[in-house]
Amino acid sequence: MSGARVILVTGGSRGIGAATCRFAADAGYRVVVNYASNEAAAGALVQDIEQAGGKAIAIKADVGNESEILSMFEQVDRAFGRLDALVNNAGVLDVMSRLDGISAARMERIMRVNVVGSMLCAREAVKRMSTTHGGKGGAIVNLSSMAAHIGGANQYVDYAASKGAIDSFTIGLAREVAAEGIRVNAVSPGIIDTEMHASTGEPDRIARIQDALPMKRAGTADEVARAVLYLLSDAASYTTGAILNVSGGR
Ligand code: NAP
Repeated sequence: MSGARVILVTGGSRGIGAATCRFAADAGYRVVVNYASNEAAAGALVQDIEQAGGKAIAIKADVGNESEILSMFEQVDRAFGRLDALVNNAGVLDVMSRLDGISAARMERIMRVNVVGSMLCAREAVKRMSTTHGGKGGAIVNLSSMAAHIGGANQYVDYAASKGAIDSFTIGLAREVAAEGIRVNAVSPGIIDTEMHASTGEPDRIARIQDALPMKRAGTADEVARAVLYLLSDAASYTTGAILNVSGGR
């Protein structure tokens, strides 16, 4: 193992993940930008980071697919030979619907990507970071959502439930690996201005609801990414199993 610390950000090509990749590069991490399909966005981000003097690579992998996750971690092993931080950021939402309009296929996709994908990525990270497995420790941050508490009624109860699972998983895994040098925390954003809202079927959703938010505005990807970087950092060395709301009071 050699060189600067290495971070893997799932769904790092856009939105909160991309902001996290930029701040991580600024903090001196070598950055693995995972993406599902938007190669152009991932490539442009890698180029930006490298032009600013950082080191980054992009890896295409669907976190809803175990074999692609395993291949991604093997590529990280080959490229860098170490892993210090994982941000389980990749997540999907679907069009707004009551439960009686949601198919089993949609529910399974939301759970597979948001929950199983995060657990599998965390499992592979633990195998590399845990002192029990010969690793040097590390930190994991999971992206939850305030939807876990609000419930997503009439919009996306499936997505909200997936983020409730992320909260439970964060608390449990944190306790499981606390004595093995790994801290596990979550950030729980409120309404953040990213392209994700277009997948609800309403691209102008933020403009419609922002006056109802406590700060009268949505948050930015940068505002969430700063919280992620804090939880990864040594400044949070006694913080594990925490779920940090970055929701503007929502
Ligand atoms: P976004 O702008 O829609 O970006 C999603 C990212 O995830 C993209 O990089 C996308 O890759 C990637 N991705 C999607 N499905 C994937 C898969 N199966 N495998 C690998 N990567 C995948 O999302 P965001 O708003 O930044 O959200 C990031 C996280 O924050 C999510 O977990 C979300 O649930 C959570 N969150 C967001 C908000 C919000 O208001 N935006 C609020 C609370 C929580 P491609 O570029 O290749 O498509």
